[in-house]
Amino acid sequence: MTESNHRAPLSDVQLRVKALESLLIEKGLVNQQALDAIIDNYENKVGPHIGAKVVARAWTDPDFKATLLEDASAALAEMEYTGIEGSHMVVKENTDKIHNLVVCTLCSCYPWPVLGLPPNWYKSTPFRAKAVRDPRGLLREFGLELSTDTEVRVWDSNAEIRYLVLPKRPAGAEGMSEEELSKIVTRDAMVGTGLIALQ
Ligand code: FE
Repeated sequence: MTESNHRAPLSDVQLRVKALESLLIEKGLVNQQALDAIIDNYENKVGPHIGAKVVARAWTDPDFKATLLEDASAALAEMEYTGIEGSHMVVKENTDKIHNLVVCTLCSCYPWPVLGLPPNWYKSTPFRAKAVRDPRGLLREFGLELSTDTEVRVWDSNAEIRYLVLPKRPAGAEGMSEEELSKIVTRDAMVGTGLIALQ
């Protein structure tokens, strides 16, 4: 007998979400199509490739970068990268002396319009706890060994503010176009758990 045709049983949380969704639709409080459109958007259309475009533009357009660091919500709204779970955005720039790391210690707040839905590790308790207790040790687990004179700054996201890291443009990427640059920017680099390397 094979299990491959069977779906795994729903978890307690999934069952609760389904029950809640059915009830809201039944009572006419939400519209099934609108709900499906939102889920499809964040599962399939929005993702780290959006954030990567923002980073590549900031690397190649100093005026845009200045606006992005000054008022990320406005800069992103201008590119139409805004929406639920990301209307108030703050961008933190990595430098030779500062490395930024984003977490949500309470739950899983994440900048949906520019990164899509959060990965499971971002939502996990060990990640959230260690980001505060021992950020350097946590980064080491992700393969990042930062020099001791690099200051690590941890940004705790919440329902109001969502953070995005502007990674350092890697050495050797000077001649690359904005489009080429956008292809080397990774999700982890924009959360602060990765650095950008040229392949
Ligand atoms: Fe949260």
